[in-house]
Amino acid sequence: MLKVCKFGGTSMSSSIAINKVTEIIHSDDSRRYVVVSAPGKRDNTDIKITDTLYQCFREMKSTGSCNESFSLIYDRYMGIVRDLGLKIDMKTYLDNVKKGIESSQSPDFAASRGEYLNALIMAEQLGYAFVDAADVIRFNDDGTFDEDTTNDLVQEALSKVDKAVIPGFYGSYQDGRIKTFSRGGSDITGAIIARGVNADLYENWTDVSGFLKADPRIVNNPERIKTLSFRELRELSYMGASVLHPDAVFPVRVSGIPINIRNTFAPQDEGTMIVPHYVERDEKNIVTGIAGKKNFAIILIEKSMMNSEIGFSRRVLSVFEKYGISIEHMPSGIDTLSVVVSEEELKNKLDNVIMDIRSQFKPNTVEVYHGIALIATVGHGMSRRPGTSARLFKSIYEADVNVRMIDQGSSEMNIIIGVENDDYEKALAAIYHEFIG
Ligand code: ASP
Repeated sequence: MLKVCKFGGTSMSSSIAINKVTEIIHSDDSRRYVVVSAPGKRDNTDIKITDTLYQCFREMKSTGSCNESFSLIYDRYMGIVRDLGLKIDMKTYLDNVKKGIESSQSPDFAASRGEYLNALIMAEQLGYAFVDAADVIRFNDDGTFDEDTTNDLVQEALSKVDKAVIPGFYGSYQDGRIKTFSRGGSDITGAIIARGVNADLYENWTDVSGFLKADPRIVNNPERIKTLSFRELRELSYMGASVLHPDAVFPVRVSGIPINIRNTFAPQDEGTMIVPHYVERDEKNIVTGIAGKKNFAIILIEKSMMNSEIGFSRRVLSVFEKYGISIEHMPSGIDTLSVVVSEEELKNKLDNVIMDIRSQFKPNTVEVYHGIALIATVGHGMSRRPGTSARLFKSIYEADVNVRMIDQGSSEMNIIIGVENDDYEKALAAIYHEFIG
């Protein structure tokens, strides 16, 4: 058995948390490769090291040095090393990092140092080797992730060390410049390492005991999801279930390695197991989870005989493409086409989009509805089960919520509805109570 473990920012936030992590790793010999985040928040008022590092970069840009912000970084790491009683020469590492930030032109370099320093500490703490992510995780010149080269480099480097700590979140271009993934990207690093060493399991240790069936701010004490398929996970995390970075499934999906979400602060909990294959669901578990997001707009275009104009939808979409707007859904009728887009994407671009649509397509009307929330009800158990959508819509009706949009893919594992922002919580809770309890 070989496990790759990734520990998130809260698990790394203090010497107390790091001691818990150490216990977890030492309790199982198969936990041989460890990926770490930078220290995160110790409480709600705290600042993540990564955010302070971005601040260092900004300070350096405006004043030429980062003395003020870096003192926070310095104190935090020196405190952790002192409390852990480690002999590592942290002062020299920190001085070099500060010089590096002051001489580099890149916010990515600054941000990556949180993981870098933390991995050095963890390697010392565990007695594992330190393998720098800059040496094994590679990006192409256009900033995209170079999957094949990375996999070769990881395989080669880690075949030489039995146990290692690897910093999460970043890698490098061929010329050595540092590049980070998007925020929360250490989850992706963990998955890349799991694939590279061909692990049996990728354990992702965080501060919650796995995925919940709905947002606990909306549903009181929601049930935990015990098993989730990669496809269900994609649907749920895209719609806002944020335990794991949405891109973390890709590297492990290639080799079919399961991911186990675990809680550093409740290691006895089994967490959520995310598996590559389809999951059979019984009558009681038709719906695996419900997630959603607010603030979408619907652009409704109406034009007589639209259905007989070949290429109409493609041409409408090319307007969105021209302005670099990614679209979410496109439900259509015989003479109508609606495009659902997040308000964020539309910002400052809506007038131009509408102008182009009017002038190019001469529609009868173009209307825009703002303030729409999308709710995705997800589960393999929904497919080929008659009555599922009837139950869903009945629950929404009983909650006195009007449905503004409906979208169901033919895989039947996901029904997406659009409701007014103000109805979002009510609708989500109604669906939860109908299917889950
Ligand atoms: N430290 C980075 C962040 O705060 C990456 C991570 O924790 O995964 O986004």
